[in-house]
Amino acid sequence: MRIGIAFILGSLLGLFLGESVLVLEPLGTLFIKLLKMIVIPIVFLTLVAGMRSLTPSKLGRVGGQTVALYLITTAVAIVIGLITANIIAPGIGLTLPLEAEIMTKEAPSLAEVFMNIVPDNPFSAFAEGNVLQTIFIAIVFGLALAVLQEKAEGSVKAGVESIFNIVEAGAEAMFKVVWGVMEYGVIGVFALMASVFAKTGVDALIPFAKLILSLFLAVIIHITITHLLIIVKGFLKQKPTSFLLGIKDAMITALSIRSSSGTLPVSMANAEDNLCIDEEIYSFTLPLGATINMDGTAMYQGVAAVFAANLIGQTLTIAQQATIVVTAVLASIGTAGVPGSGLIMLTLVLTQLGLPLSVVGFVAGIDPILDRFRTVNNVTGDLAVTALVAKWNDAIDFSRGSWKK
Ligand code: ASP
Repeated sequence: MRIGIAFILGSLLGLFLGESVLVLEPLGTLFIKLLKMIVIPIVFLTLVAGMRSLTPSKLGRVGGQTVALYLITTAVAIVIGLITANIIAPGIGLTLPLEAEIMTKEAPSLAEVFMNIVPDNPFSAFAEGNVLQTIFIAIVFGLALAVLQEKAEGSVKAGVESIFNIVEAGAEAMFKVVWGVMEYGVIGVFALMASVFAKTGVDALIPFAKLILSLFLAVIIHITITHLLIIVKGFLKQKPTSFLLGIKDAMITALSIRSSSGTLPVSMANAEDNLCIDEEIYSFTLPLGATINMDGTAMYQGVAAVFAANLIGQTLTIAQQATIVVTAVLASIGTAGVPGSGLIMLTLVLTQLGLPLSVVGFVAGIDPILDRFRTVNNVTGDLAVTALVAKWNDAIDFSRGSWKK
């Protein structure tokens, strides 16, 4: 609630006072730095701690369900984005002297996408803050511990128990840190929003208003239909409002900081406290989702490609639109949940289709706005899939938390 109020007050302050509020910017940057600081330790510690109660055979099941759901929902998101953008036709009416460019860049091969998951060494992965690689290390290490816990005897077994104890205590300690960071978040979000609106103002929205509208509508449709109606109401048999209430901190944080990895600590806290999901599930699905599940980012590829085609008076063929679905689903696996990474993915998608790359430059100016919608959608998708996987594995308590409300 306090963060929500800070968000609105900060926006208004930036809008009315303009550049003079930019002195507040470092306070917002500090918030982002604090969140970034805790991502790697929290991913590692909660993931390894989660493995304690996860038998390897069960991990295979949870992992399979999670990855399948992430990929399916991402593909659905892109289709929704394409349909919405085809109807609104965001680029029509704008006459930009652009020419389609020859394909210059190769999309990374599937092999490269997967190779990137394995770090050269664990410490470089930690030091560089590579979430996907950290997930990989945590899974491998945690699995090894879990196997030893079942099979080993004597001092090794005792040692494994101690490691799990320490890791579990570490995870708890990190949640205390998250709590502290969120207390500061009231100031951080206020400062962030004030400087965003001081910089862009409302005028910045006009030329590309239709692009913004297309993405906004597509995000609302996807969250409402796929996440709320199909997953929450259909599969979980719960009230969509209870779910939204439970994840509102994560949604507001995503909207403010434009990073699903940065939002991870808040998503985890919401999953634990409000959605009442067992740690063994969310400690695996949420970090993985923050890295490989990008509903909003992938959807944006469809919307922006239609926009780019409109600008040069072309319509995308069905085959081209199918290419977007495949490319964006695969690219989303290797795209980091950090601000603006969706723009980098756009370079890849436009190149794949031979559409003008200069469009990336045009939309970069309004990307801070588009990125907010994308990130909220990314985070909502992670939490919705997590809740469903938790239900399928009897790891969610619908009698507590926000489900009661
Ligand atoms: N900012 C997004 C995220 O962190 C990625 C993007 O679309 O740029 O999820």
